[in-house]
Amino acid sequence: KIAVVGSINMDLVFKIPRMPLPGETLMGHSFHLVHGGKGANQAVAAARMGAAVSLVACVGDDANGQSCLHALQKDEINASHVRVIPDCATGVAGILLDDEGQNSIVLATGANALLDLADIDCADSTIAQAKLLLCQLETPLASVLHAMASAKQAKLKVVLNPAPAQKLSDQILAQVDYLVVNETEAALLSGLAVCDLATAQLAAAVLQQRGAGVVIVTLGAIGIWVAAPDQAYSLPAFKVEVVDTTAAGDTFVGSFAVAIAEGMDLCAACMFAQSAAALAVTKLGAQTSIPYRQAVEQQLQN
Ligand code: ADP
Repeated sequence: KIAVVGSINMDLVFKIPRMPLPGETLMGHSFHLVHGGKGANQAVAAARMGAAVSLVACVGDDANGQSCLHALQKDEINASHVRVIPDCATGVAGILLDDEGQNSIVLATGANALLDLADIDCADSTIAQAKLLLCQLETPLASVLHAMASAKQAKLKVVLNPAPAQKLSDQILAQVDYLVVNETEAALLSGLAVCDLATAQLAAAVLQQRGAGVVIVTLGAIGIWVAAPDQAYSLPAFKVEVVDTTAAGDTFVGSFAVAIAEGMDLCAACMFAQSAAALAVTKLGAQTSIPYRQAVEQQLQN
């Protein structure tokens, strides 16, 4: 069982030839409405890898919120701790995706900003029954910390994906068993520039010194740097054709959490997660692109 505390967003995806200039009106290729939000994406990834997943989150009482809840149901995610807030908008992300696969994103956080300590308290027994807690930072930090504290008390493993990047104290990092960061997050948290395996190694060492248990730095098509207390190594990414990198990181984190909860060793868990993330890169959108376990295992065997 995995408990996820995090965000739910509706993604409005515009496929466009190139990024617009300020003041410019640009004709796009197409528009897609896709279920997203880091919390929901990671919950969906975990569910598609076969875990029983509960999501603690907030949506507004609008059509987007209903649609997002319906999507969670289809993935058999327990949404009994998703609070529907009256007179509030569900989180929305406007995503511009150009011909080169680059994306620019604007976010209106809506109901996600209202996830509070009481939401965590309501879900306390659900969290306590899980094996692992998975969090990101698209919901208020105080709520995330509250969830991490109750997870620690119930002896759960804690996986934190500190995205969007935000500075965190050593005390917070010390609560984290597995810290999964991309280049931006690694740089902000370590104070070092991160662009390749060598710099990722330096940043990971800083984050371990600051208290994090295992640190994983994801480096897109390069792969990952893994720093555990007793060993550190790099693993290459799978080679795939890039369509849209949205949710690559979320797929990695959700799949990694399942592998760790199942007791896979660290290296195997990382390759499992990378296999899932690489498949996500080959499809458009957030939750639409997250693969199922069978495909992930098949790619690992090839
Ligand atoms: P984020 O989306 O958070 O910035 P990354 O871009 O680092 O995260 O991607 C997370 C993981 O997804 C990578 O470590 C890698 O395993 C996989 N991935 C991302 N981009 C590619 C790619 N172009 N080819 C293969 N795997 C990729």
